[in-house]
Parts: sequence; C-alpha cells; structure tokens
Amino acid sequence: MYNTITLKFSLLLFAICASCTLALSQEYWQQEANYKMEIDFDVETNQFTGKQKIKYHNNSPDRLNKVFYHLYFNAFKPNSMMDWNSRTIQDPDGRVGDRIYYLTKEEQGYQKVLSLKQNGNDCIFNIEGTILEVILDKPLEPGDKATFEMEFEAQVPLQIRRSGRDNAEGIRYSMSQWYPKLCEYDRLGWSANPYVGREFHGVWGDFEVEITIDGEYIVAATGVQKSNNKYAKSSEDKRTWKYHAENVHDFVWAADPDYTYIEHKTDEGVELQFFYQSSKDTDENWQKLPEIMDAAIGFMNKRYGQYPYPVYKFIQGGDGGMEYPMATLITGKRSLGSLVGVSVHEWMHSWYQMVLATNEALYPWMDEGFTSFGTTETMNFLRTEGLLGEVTPNENPFESAYAGYIGHTMSNTDEPLSTHADHYVTNRAYGIASYTKGQVFLKQLEYVVGKKDFDEILLTYYDQWKFKHPTDVDFIRVAEKVSGLELDWYREYWVNTTHKIDYAVFLANQDAEKKRAIIFLAKQEKMPMPLDIEVIYADGTKELFNIPLAIMRGNKSYDYQSSRTTIVKDWPWTNPAYSLDIFTNGKEVISVEVDPSMRMADINRGNNFWRKTDDDTGEESFK
Ligand SMILES: [Zn+2]
Repeated sequence: MYNTITLKFSLLLFAICASCTLALSQEYWQQEANYKMEIDFDVETNQFTGKQKIKYHNNSPDRLNKVFYHLYFNAFKPNSMMDWNSRTIQDPDGRVGDRIYYLTKEEQGYQKVLSLKQNGNDCIFNIEGTILEVILDKPLEPGDKATFEMEFEAQVPLQIRRSGRDNAEGIRYSMSQWYPKLCEYDRLGWSANPYVGREFHGVWGDFEVEITIDGEYIVAATGVQKSNNKYAKSSEDKRTWKYHAENVHDFVWAADPDYTYIEHKTDEGVELQFFYQSSKDTDENWQKLPEIMDAAIGFMNKRYGQYPYPVYKFIQGGDGGMEYPMATLITGKRSLGSLVGVSVHEWMHSWYQMVLATNEALYPWMDEGFTSFGTTETMNFLRTEGLLGEVTPNENPFESAYAGYIGHTMSNTDEPLSTHADHYVTNRAYGIASYTKGQVFLKQLEYVVGKKDFDEILLTYYDQWKFKHPTDVDFIRVAEKVSGLELDWYREYWVNTTHKIDYAVFLANQDAEKKRAIIFLAKQEKMPMPLDIEVIYADGTKELFNIPLAIMRGNKSYDYQSSRTTIVKDWPWTNPAYSLDIFTNGKEVISVEVDPSMRMADINRGNNFWRKTDDDTGEESFK
C-alpha cells in the first residue's frame, strides 16, 4: 500500500540521496599506479621478457572486484579488432590498410601474461584481444592499496601503426604502448577500450624502468636516465638503461644503434634532447631544431602554463608524430618547416594530454584540437620571430582551420565532437572533428568571452587541472568562472551537435533627420552566437556593437578591437531575427559587417556584409 506519508517520506529520502550523489560526484578523485619494470630484450628475435610490479591505490569511492590492463601489441595479429576495423572502415588509414592481415608469425606482435599476483596471491585472469581482465584475489575497498606483480613476454610487431620495429625510416625500435598497462578507472568508470587504432588514457603515477639490451643500442625514454650510459654505442655485449619518471601516465622508449645525440639546455632550464639518424638530408634541419624549440618553450610557458618536467626528448621513430610523457616519436626525414611543425605539435601535447590528461577516447578534440590550437599560435609566433626563415607571418593563422571545419560541415558528413574516438563512421570525420573543429572551439570561445578572459581561461584551466583528468564540463566551468558568463549552451551546441552557424545582415533603414539607422539581422541556422557588428560611416569612422545572447547572462569583457564597443540589448536564441537601432549622429552608414574579426565559424560569410551601392537610397525598408 502506498499512502501519503510514505510518499512524502520517500520523496524526502530521494531528495537526501540525490544531494549525496551530487556531492560525491563533485568531489574529484583519481587512482594512482606506480610502476617498476625490468625488461630483458633480444634484438635477434625482437622479443623480450618483463617483470612488472605495480603499486596501486584505489582512491575511488568504489569497491573494485576486477581490474583491467591494455595489451596493445595483441592488436597486431590477423583478425584482431584493429585489423577488422581497418579493413572495413570506408576510408582506412593508409599506414594500416590490410597490412595487419598479411603479417607473418615473425612480424606479428603479442603480449603474453605468464603470471599475475595480487599481494603475492595468484589472480584469475582472462585475455580477450587487447584487454586483460583480472578477477581480484581480494576486492579493493575504497582507500585500499595493492601490489600487482606480473611476469610477461612479448614480441614487437613490425611497425604498422605508432609502435613497432623497423619503421619506414629504418629506426629499429619505436616502443610505445609496449608494456601491460593498467586501464584507468575514473569518475566515468573503467576505460577498458579494445585497441582498434587510436587514443589513450592512463593512470597517474611514477615509473622506474630498466631495459637491458645489446650494448650498441642507444635507448631514449620517458624520464631522467639514472644509469649514466653515454648516448653512444658501447662495446659491451649487453647494457642496462635505467629511467625514472615522476607524475606521468605512460612510458615510451625507442632504441637504435645509429642515433646521433644533441642536448640543449633552454633558457627556461629544461633539458632538450634530440635523437636522430644522421644523413645528409636531415642533419642540417635537426641541428637547427634546438634553438627553435628553445624559443618555442618561452612562448608556450607564458601562454599555456609552465612545462613541469626536467627534460623533453625529440626522438626519430614512429610513423609520423605521436606524443608521450616527456618525449615524442617523430619521423625525421622532413623539410625544416615540417620538422618544426611536428615538433611543436607533439611537444604542445605535453600541455594538452600529458599534463591536462583528458580521456582521449571520449574527448579527442580536447587533446588534438587544443594541441592544434596551440600549434597554430606557436608556429605563428616562430614565423613572426623570423625563426622559420623568410616566411611571412599569417595575418589570420586560423583561417585554414575555419575553412576546413566549414567545408566539412557543409558536406553534412560531420559527426558530433562527443562521438567516441573509435566510433566515428569515417577517419576523416574523426580527424576534422578532433583536430579542426576542436581547434575552432577555442578560437571561437575567445570571440565569445573576449581575449582578456580567454587568455586567463587557458592559464586557469592549466593551473586547476594539471596532473588530473579534466572533462569538457570541467573546462567550460573554468571558462564560466573566469568570464562570469553562462557558457553551457556553447559546449552543448558545439560538442554534442553538428548544428551550424549562419547570420545575415543588411541595413534596413537610415534616417539622417532622426540621426538613426536600423540594421536587420537574421539567424539562418540552428546554433546561436553573440554577435560583433561593425558599422562604417561615410566619414571613415567605425563603430563596433556587441549583441550578447540572452542565455549568456552577460557580455564579453575586453576584446582586442581598438574601437570602442557598445553593448546593446540581448538576443534570445529562440528569435529568428533582430533589429539593431543605432544612433548615427546624422552620419551616413556605408557598410555593416557581422563578425569583422572572423572568429565566428559562420558557414556563409557572403551574407555577413551590407555595403552601400550607387543606386542605394538608404531609404529602403524591409518586409
Ligand atoms: Zn596530436
């Protein structure tokens, strides 16, 4: 029976529970995993054995009965999920295609778990492709710590994607995603994604890694070298390289007998290390790189927050460019512009991924998009400083990003940024969403909140979320607090939908006697935006108006226009049209433009202008 009293009581209970959940979900926590690994490597067979000890802290409010590990190398076998995905997607990555399907036994990759113990007791485990599922010997209660000890063996695959041996430029070992890596459990649950091609997420912690390999190999890795080995060939049969890294969520290494080594201490006190194979095509560019990267970090530290690690390594390896903590693997046979471009991009990931460690699978645009934004700005800085030779700085360096996004969204094959990185229908849609639309997200936010607040948002975001796992909501909350504006609508439209922006303008009426003009504006697409309107008068003077959106509950503060801005009445997003009634002081309006700074991703700029033509009387009215 259900009477009024129990109803009231259960409503009360519901209210209490709802507020508990809210309080809990707002309290940030993250897991911690500290790794010790010893690796014995055989360069004849491309196989290695490993001993791994992980000290794991369950800082979550949940009891854990299981943990998961990634075994990435298992993707490089015929009929793996990555193989199927690559052979069936509309537009396969040219580096992968059907190559996994044709790998021979010696070319395939694998990771085999020989034993796994929790606090000395054997655990039951099961491997399914690239995911190892472990039933814990004893559940981990909130606050519990455990030690996981694993013995494993592995074979390095011929390089297909990112990791592997013998890359296209002849680097012997590009060792990323090479060890059994504990999956992250965070506020959004387990991220035990099978490896089908991209995107990573890891547990914060420290790494101590010892790699024993043939003496002639030079090993470059995440962290600080503790073994005092020279970065040169040795005549020893085998030698051990010890590396230590603190407060990271992954560990990469590369090895080759022919690495040339350069080191450079930046003005900022960071040790930059460069590892590349010497050749007449590459030497000159690699030798110029240290000085240019030194200039880059000066700009990046000021703009995005201080680089927090003692060292960073640019290592020739991989299959393009890929970011890791304190290091990148990049292909090295490039023009100077391309070498600098990839170096800046991958290093920029130290801010947007290695330190602000968003879950890349869920928010690839916060990792690739924010990094691309920083790359565009930093490259423009280097151009302006004359560090890239005789190239003229671009007046609007974001122009191509806007054009790329608009071209793609007009094709109507775009997918929302909220799509999981593995689940886009095409690689192209993933690429443009993550790199391009993600980049425009930030530049356009600058337009919405104004340059002064935007600059502060970047630094505050870094300060508040470094060494954590921020989400898109965490970012937008920082932006809201700094700017004092409501910005949830911006995130929801830009991230969760593929709605477009299009505004149109014309001068509806001007009346010299009354000294007024009426500007008519129309919202032609779904996504609403605040508008900057520039009016030019016949005497050459200009005036800027800002129309805030009513849902912003305010307007942007200082932006970078030199002319004075007049804030006019809000535009409710529901209304398809708006008329802007301005006082002209009797001056004739000869031109009106929506968004003169070109930071709004308007899909049709053709209707953003009104210009006086000879047959204009300036007296026409609109219907
Ligand atoms: Zn990137």
